Amino acid sequence: AGLGLLAACGGNSENEAEGTANNSGTEANGLTVGLAMPTQSSERWVRDGENMAEQFEELGYEVEMQYGEDDVQNQVSQIENMITQEVDLLVIASIDGEALTSVLEMAEATDIPVIAYDRLIMNSEHVSYYATFDNYEVGVQQGEYIESALSLDEGEGPFNIELFGGSPDDNNAYFFWDGAMSVLEPYIEEGQLVVQSGQTDFEQASTMRWDASLAQERMDNILSANYSDENLDVVYSPFDGISRGVISSLSSIGYGSDSQPMPIITGQDAEEASVRAIISGEQTMTIFKDTRALAEQAVNMGHAILNDEEPEVNDTETYDNNSKVVPAYLLEPISVDIDNYEEVLVETGYYSEEDLQ
Ligand code: BGC
Repeated sequence: AGLGLLAACGGNSENEAEGTANNSGTEANGLTVGLAMPTQSSERWVRDGENMAEQFEELGYEVEMQYGEDDVQNQVSQIENMITQEVDLLVIASIDGEALTSVLEMAEATDIPVIAYDRLIMNSEHVSYYATFDNYEVGVQQGEYIESALSLDEGEGPFNIELFGGSPDDNNAYFFWDGAMSVLEPYIEEGQLVVQSGQTDFEQASTMRWDASLAQERMDNILSANYSDENLDVVYSPFDGISRGVISSLSSIGYGSDSQPMPIITGQDAEEASVRAIISGEQTMTIFKDTRALAEQAVNMGHAILNDEEPEVNDTETYDNNSKVVPAYLLEPISVDIDNYEEVLVETGYYSEEDLQ
């Protein structure tokens, strides 16, 4: 996607007039950015997409954005189309991180740089940069929340816990799990945490495509097989959608009443419905990852690449995609519960009070 070619066929951009505007003196020159996003079924990705589109457009870029709606082949075709249309940069939040090797070869053949957004794209040399949160730290914060809520470090227990993992085709899922288990596993070994189902491996606990209904079904099965005479005290869940599936399952057999309160339930993404569930006491905590900040990071990276500048990175060791270690910028996640949601989510303008009513 040569600059000349795009300039030649440009001319339909609403933002063209602002094409040179930005604070570092670099230029957008009517270039086009292709944004391939995973699904609109989870709020965070809608916000990520909107935020990036808005910020790229403010810098004068044209934006072509597509959602794959959790259909891998669909996402591959969308990216192929963007390459055929000669976009100048691809920013991809993958559905299946292992399914893009061939399409990225196409991007490489036409010199289109690729930024992996939030999720690492695996098995390809042609991933230029990676913008994400510290995914291991997400898991550590979830695990530490459980540790401190139950005073495990003071020797309390035993408590019954069940574990949920994310999607096995998403590299992040392993980081969340490993981070959480770095905190929880010693307590499981000591018997302070007991997994009645015995399902302590990621493979057993994982949830394909982060699907809430699959999580609900698995929780139903675990509860009926193991908890007729036991109380469930904690559920480790990596993602708000999974947490909501778990909560539906628990509610259906009477958890959430005065006599049988909800277990401690973790989550991630601070989705609106889940923050409401935190306020109403059904969910205990979530991890807030500010999609405004991640979008800004990816936009800055893209803008630098398109201006032949070096994007800022702060990690060059962690994210090995089996073909290369991808230089990354990691943002800090924030643990949120009933005590700090106002400060973290409302006072920063991420949500209004009305959103959460
Ligand atoms: C993201 C999480 C999200 C999950 C499900 C992961 O790749 O990092 O923020 O909860 O996907 O969408």
